[in-house]
Amino acid sequence: MSKVLVIGAGGVGSVAVHKMAMNAGIFSEVALASRTKAKCDAIAESVKARTGVTIETYQIDADDVAATTALIEAVQPALVVNLALPYQDLHIMDACLAAGVNYMDTANYEPIDEAKFEYSWQWAYQERFKAAGLMALLGSGFDPGVTSVFATWIRKHKLDTIRTLDILDCNGGDHGQHFATNFNPEINIREVTAPARHFENGKWIESPALSKKQSFAFEAVGPKNMYLMYHEELESLHQHLPEIERIRFWMTFGDAYITHLTVLQNVGMTRIDPVMYEGHEIVPLQFLKAVLPEPSSLGSTTKGKTNIGDIATGFKDGEERTFYVYNICDHEDAYAETGNQAVSYTTGVPAMIGAALVLQGKWAGAGVFNIEQFDPDPFMDMLNQHGLPWTCKELGQPLDF
Ligand code: NDP
Repeated sequence: MSKVLVIGAGGVGSVAVHKMAMNAGIFSEVALASRTKAKCDAIAESVKARTGVTIETYQIDADDVAATTALIEAVQPALVVNLALPYQDLHIMDACLAAGVNYMDTANYEPIDEAKFEYSWQWAYQERFKAAGLMALLGSGFDPGVTSVFATWIRKHKLDTIRTLDILDCNGGDHGQHFATNFNPEINIREVTAPARHFENGKWIESPALSKKQSFAFEAVGPKNMYLMYHEELESLHQHLPEIERIRFWMTFGDAYITHLTVLQNVGMTRIDPVMYEGHEIVPLQFLKAVLPEPSSLGSTTKGKTNIGDIATGFKDGEERTFYVYNICDHEDAYAETGNQAVSYTTGVPAMIGAALVLQGKWAGAGVFNIEQFDPDPFMDMLNQHGLPWTCKELGQPLDF
């Protein structure tokens, strides 16, 4: 049985469902459920027009565990792919356990009232998934996801040990707006405004958000300022590849983005605690999301490329060597293929690939797994076949920063 139920009809859900329909040999049936059914129906229409495949659509509030369990029992998928928001992760995991179905996602759980990213909540489901004989695959997007697989592929094929790992995430795209985010604005701004954190010299080091920057010349994009940030795969990679002595995550932002974000932060618009407004409680960041452009609306105007990859330095046969593995994705090509820009595309394609490997039994096991715990090879092959080709280059020396 290879029926899949995708929950979440945003940009990432749209790409994943299009790509699943393009691979009907693996995904015999696809169902899509989300809070707003009209969004599922619009995606189903596009999928039908582009691929001829019919997908089922449903309305669901995934925070309602009983309703989600009933939906899973009615749809009877082999796997639930959670592409809603991180707030829904635990509720959907609970529903999967109740219905006896495997689970997968692309982003770790976050409590809605606290911008805190850590795997502890989802790792706590380990024994329950194991006892049920079910699998939960965490983080099958790009970062986390592809970047974690790049690290294990380097470890398997290029280096005996990794000493330092830097993940470099560059979006060189221009959407023509003064200020907009490429994925859910609330999740994106919570992530960017959180303190930076990286692992070095045996401990986690925290620094103020966006306080450390470096210029880096990205192939197909050019030189960009990138900022040290915390990102959830640092925690799981540190756990599963404890040999890594220093691990950091960098993301590029243009000056205009930083200026807008600084002003919004200074005036309190990025707060996630409720404030009273005309007798109602509102959360400033949620209000801000309502006035910013919907990321899915940026697809038709976004031009340029993303370039995301890993630079790892370590030893091979006693000699120090440095490898850079990266993917370049073009916003306009992504839009032409699925109707979504490259940030959704680079997340939705690996979501499809992770789901395919679970459905085909190439990645198997009972319990909660991060993506780097599996053999990277079949995933790397599928990236090349399904729209995210990657390149591996040896660099002459480690990063000099
Ligand atoms: P969007 O905001 O575009 O889409 C989220 C979808 O989830 C919307 O359709 C929304 O419904 C739906 N949703 C929200 N709450 C519920 C609920 N309670 N029940 C059912 N559906 C709900 O986000 P994206 O598509 O950009 O991102 C999707 C996920 O992918 C997020 O978790 C994000 O963090 C993750 N991500 C991961 C990346 C990676 O590389 N690993 C990169 C980018 C994103 P409605 O339409 O009604 O609002």
